[in-house]
Amino acid sequence: MKRLSFLLVFILALPIFLFGCNNNEFENLSTYTIDCVYDEQNHTLTCSQTLNYYNNTDNALNKLEFFLYANAFNEGTSVVSTSSFDKAYPNGASYGGIEVKGATCNDTDTEFVVEGDKNSILTVVLPSEIYPDENVKICLDYTITLANINHRLGYGENSINFGNFYPIVCVYENGFVENKFVSNGDPFYSDIANYNVQITYNEKYTMASSGDVVDEKIENGRKTTSVKGEKLRDFCFVLSEKFQKASNTVDGVTVNYYYYDDENYEENLTLSCQVLQEFSNMFGEYPYKTLNVVKTSFCFGGMEYPNLVYISDAVTDEETYRYVIVHELAHQWWYSLVGNNEYQEAWLDESLTEYSTALFFEKHGEYGLDYKNIINGAENTYRLFVDVYSEINGDVDESMNRNLSEFNTEPEYVNCVYTKGVLLYDNLRQTLGEAKFMKCLKEYFESYCYKNANSGDLIASFSKTAKVDLEGFFNAFLNGEVILDN
Ligand SMILES: [Zn+2]
Repeated sequence: MKRLSFLLVFILALPIFLFGCNNNEFENLSTYTIDCVYDEQNHTLTCSQTLNYYNNTDNALNKLEFFLYANAFNEGTSVVSTSSFDKAYPNGASYGGIEVKGATCNDTDTEFVVEGDKNSILTVVLPSEIYPDENVKICLDYTITLANINHRLGYGENSINFGNFYPIVCVYENGFVENKFVSNGDPFYSDIANYNVQITYNEKYTMASSGDVVDEKIENGRKTTSVKGEKLRDFCFVLSEKFQKASNTVDGVTVNYYYYDDENYEENLTLSCQVLQEFSNMFGEYPYKTLNVVKTSFCFGGMEYPNLVYISDAVTDEETYRYVIVHELAHQWWYSLVGNNEYQEAWLDESLTEYSTALFFEKHGEYGLDYKNIINGAENTYRLFVDVYSEINGDVDESMNRNLSEFNTEPEYVNCVYTKGVLLYDNLRQTLGEAKFMKCLKEYFESYCYKNANSGDLIASFSKTAKVDLEGFFNAFLNGEVILDN
């Protein structure tokens, strides 16, 4: 019997080791090679970018489209809502943007145009069509001017954020998907790619970035850091003169906490390591070598990038600060590894991320955030939102699956996507039972790791794993038909 149980443990344990990302099927990935220089006097980043683009679509392409998030900081684009204005701009309104100076295709000058809603899209004309499985080399020269704003991209009191700074190629689905600038949510959607980024900056700064640092040198007071990132959904870096760094290693992954003014830095590093370990067990292994948790000037709670998360230095309450760390790190699984169109279907990553946060605190009672309290809190918050909005507007749109522009207010977005999302997954867990529910999460992660999923994919994956049709269940929540008072 003992030998049998050993064998059983072995057989049962084997699939657990197999859960995770399959590295073998992604050979023809596009590669970004970006060389950038930061001028701290003028707050400009001058870049030369080469994209080796693989046509992994089924169509011949005669152009490439890039999303220019940097232009969200142009005057008149309202990158923040009126309620967040003072937090974002402590020194008053400030603007920035990107100026594209030249484009070549396979080393020959080519036409390009900045167009779309609020100059959000750069279209580069390909002199000759590229067919499926062919590749093309596009070089872009551009300069980004940073606004004085505590945002994804901008310089603040304590740090300089370079989130979504470079032109990123749009996902192709029967045409390039053009996202929009909105103040609600994260309007991003991209494919996995490889990155080689070289950043030159004043040596007084310390840098945290996506990817792994492969080289660093200092010459005439300027530091140049070379970073390599494989299979990343995006690339981000942060500079600060104030950064201190605390590090630890968990299962071969180096976890760095970059901070200033934090007497709890050891606890916050420990928490980050626990989160990495817990979610790797729950969903699938984190496949990278580095994970950076970065305290920074930011007007919201936090923001997620591959291998790097922002935690706002404006969050002063310790419990909230820890909650934000867990939430942003959960995005490494839901957004970074399993991608989705965050503009069209924000609920996909945000609901799962928010629910994963509750799962973490359920396992770690030492933080005093009881799972039942989180669920009860979500129920009460959601009911209050429905009551208040019904009173004001007569009725309230409770649907979750809207694009970011279709949410009328920030509370409507937060309650429908985050709060109701937690209730959806708590309900589903109760319906399916613990084992089946957790298996659904693992299978969904493994099936879509390094890929993009949509709502239909998630529902089909969960239904297949649970061996029950869950379309009616999900749609009742997503379309706003579920009445949570019952
Ligand atoms: Zn989030």
